[in-house]
Amino acid sequence: MEYPTIEQLHNKIVSGETTIKDVVQEYYDRAQASDLNAFRELYSAEDVAAQVAVAEAMLKNGTATMLTGLPIAIKDNILFAGHVVSGSSKMLEHYTASYDATVIEKLKAQGAVIIGRTNMDEFAMGSSTENSAYGVTKNPHDTSKVPGGSSGGSAAAVAAGLCVAALGSDTGGSIRQPAAFCGIVGLLPTYGTVSRHGLMAMGSSLDVIGPMTHTVADAEVFYNAFKGEDKYDGTSVATGEAHSLKKRLAIPKGIFNGGGFDPELEKNFHDIVTKLQAEGFTIDEVELPHFADSLAVYYILMPAEVSSNLARLDGIRYGDRAESASINDVYGDTRGALFGLEVRRRILLGTYVLSHGYYDAYYNKAIALRATIRKELEAVLENYDAIFTPTTPTPAFSIGEKVNDPVSMYLSDLFTVPANIAQHPGLSVPSGKSSAGLPFGVQFIGARSGESVLFELGKTIENVR
Ligand code: GLN
Repeated sequence: MEYPTIEQLHNKIVSGETTIKDVVQEYYDRAQASDLNAFRELYSAEDVAAQVAVAEAMLKNGTATMLTGLPIAIKDNILFAGHVVSGSSKMLEHYTASYDATVIEKLKAQGAVIIGRTNMDEFAMGSSTENSAYGVTKNPHDTSKVPGGSSGGSAAAVAAGLCVAALGSDTGGSIRQPAAFCGIVGLLPTYGTVSRHGLMAMGSSLDVIGPMTHTVADAEVFYNAFKGEDKYDGTSVATGEAHSLKKRLAIPKGIFNGGGFDPELEKNFHDIVTKLQAEGFTIDEVELPHFADSLAVYYILMPAEVSSNLARLDGIRYGDRAESASINDVYGDTRGALFGLEVRRRILLGTYVLSHGYYDAYYNKAIALRATIRKELEAVLENYDAIFTPTTPTPAFSIGEKVNDPVSMYLSDLFTVPANIAQHPGLSVPSGKSSAGLPFGVQFIGARSGESVLFELGKTIENVR
């Protein structure tokens, strides 16, 4: 099913062919009728009506933007004042945001209508939404498959036309991997170009909020609406100048040698390469010796940051509190009862790699390797527009298939994690479908602040695929 783009809807609203109220109602009704479990919560009809009224007033007084009156969904880890936000965890089941995230403030100022919060892996840890404390989300292309994760609810909601666009967050692939699994576009922006103020922290040196949309042009419009420097985020950076397209792409040497690829997906990638060459692209295999080590670095640095970020969820400062026999047991009982298995696993891993005696052996080595990976990427990107890979080694896997094998689950992030480690942007674009109808995606990792080049490359894929 094809759904309209942001521009198409905007034009129809501005020309009077349709109304904001009707557009929002259509998506809201579909979201309400859907059984994908994409939404953790659809906000009340009154809440949405009040937002529609704001958008209609903007349209009337001439201050409407492209997003005015369009129904948007947000991941369940982004704070929207007065609304529950849970990280899809039992820990924060009853937690109400006391302020707006900077991205929400910006979307509100542009008259976007936020219709609900989407399901995710608990505190964004996972690749399938199976780690949500509230049940898995189903892939709209095949409901026996996962939608990917951790932003699986946002991906499924966009793919099934339950919203026009959605916010996701990406720490190691959580926007791009579910985008690929659900056949939509997902952008990991350059680290720091989107404010993290009001995003629940997972790995603070890796987390970025980004757009999940039907088309590359939509991703561009949506990203431009909420990016920008912010005094409330100490790692915030200005977005860069436009770079120019060289029509040169680099494929990391040896990525197809390790096995584990779905054969149809691998063929789809090679077909896309041939089509791009026919468009005048030079595509080389280049040495990126530590590209594949990113995953190992990630599974040291990310848990280290997770363990410190989640320390605040102790039943006293934030979150619900479990029954305890004595005051000495409050922390342990609460964290044991209200965190899921994967979250506990990562907190344990993180405290281990940060502990005295292991800090140098693990954490400091990972930090050093991170710098090497970044240098390798930067060197390649001096001569190429982007590093080009499939987004994932396989299309969406079955619900339940990998739940008992965390390492095989982690491997689905093999190609997405390097961009987070290097703090570079990455774009996933649908590139075709399997014979069983499951979407494939390709990924471009660009230079820092090189989003404009990624959008150009993404549009090329939309034309040739
Ligand atoms: N799937 C990865 C993980 O489990 C990435 C998560 C993310 O980007 N939030 O950590």
